[in-house]
Amino acid sequence: MLKILWLALLVFVPVICPCAQAQGPVTVESLLSKDTRLLVFSPHPDDETLGAAGLMQRVLQEGGRVKVVFMTNGDGFPEGVEQEDHIAHPTAADYRKYGAERRVEAVKAVACLGLKESDTIFLGFPDGGLSCLCQQFFAGPPAYRSPFTLESCPPASEIIIPHTDYTGHDLTQELERVLADFRPNLVATTSPEDQHPDHSVTYFFVQRALTHGRQKNPSFNPRVLTFLIHFGQWPLAQGAGTGLRLHPPEGFPDKGRQWLSLALSPEEATAKRRAILECHTQMIVMGRYLLSFARSNELFILEN
Ligand SMILES: [Zn+2]
Repeated sequence: MLKILWLALLVFVPVICPCAQAQGPVTVESLLSKDTRLLVFSPHPDDETLGAAGLMQRVLQEGGRVKVVFMTNGDGFPEGVEQEDHIAHPTAADYRKYGAERRVEAVKAVACLGLKESDTIFLGFPDGGLSCLCQQFFAGPPAYRSPFTLESCPPASEIIIPHTDYTGHDLTQELERVLADFRPNLVATTSPEDQHPDHSVTYFFVQRALTHGRQKNPSFNPRVLTFLIHFGQWPLAQGAGTGLRLHPPEGFPDKGRQWLSLALSPEEATAKRRAILECHTQMIVMGRYLLSFARSNELFILEN
């Protein structure tokens, strides 16, 4: 089923902006203006900061608008719950509490980048379960049930469309609504080649929702930048906390796509580092890894 959905996606995602090459090489900066409306899709609280903190700051500095959509609250992380709350065998209530803590941290982290709480959208879908929604729980019923929180739908406060459950269909609908409400002209999300299933599947769901949006309204055609979080030992193998330049990982299947580097100003790099440090629950478990994203640049691939 997953392969079929991927094939459908490849067929229906249109190639845009054929003029880009004629106008010279595309840079991240060349995609931004005061009219930029950037929507960042983050699988878990912290991915948006690790991958796109500089991009978000730059868009705001240009006079554009930014919103962040958190697919999950990051509540399915046993090692994290155990270390944060010193609980050997976390219960569903412990996982939900952990998700609530990560949600608060995410708001504080993006505040370091200039965003308000009203610029965040939490969808409350299941951490560690997004790939299941792509496969056996796409249509439902039954809906997927998180083995961590034991929930089979988002918290009531996070549901946008009534009766939303943990199914791929309902997640797609929620994403379509978010896209239709904000109408971004630039989207940033995790790479389809990211090795964390929640991350690669986030790309799939975002592209699926974009495809539906384009079919309903052909003038709606935002550009899509992807950023990478998990790929082998990258970028930890390039050093942590050094602030040095970030290079693409060796062996990444770029398929002819070009990496675009966004150089951060010292102020942007400092704010990104501060934002990373706001992710206390994650710093406890993997601080070195998180800080390996605190660099003098960020890397993106323009997908379309
Ligand atoms: Zn993540």
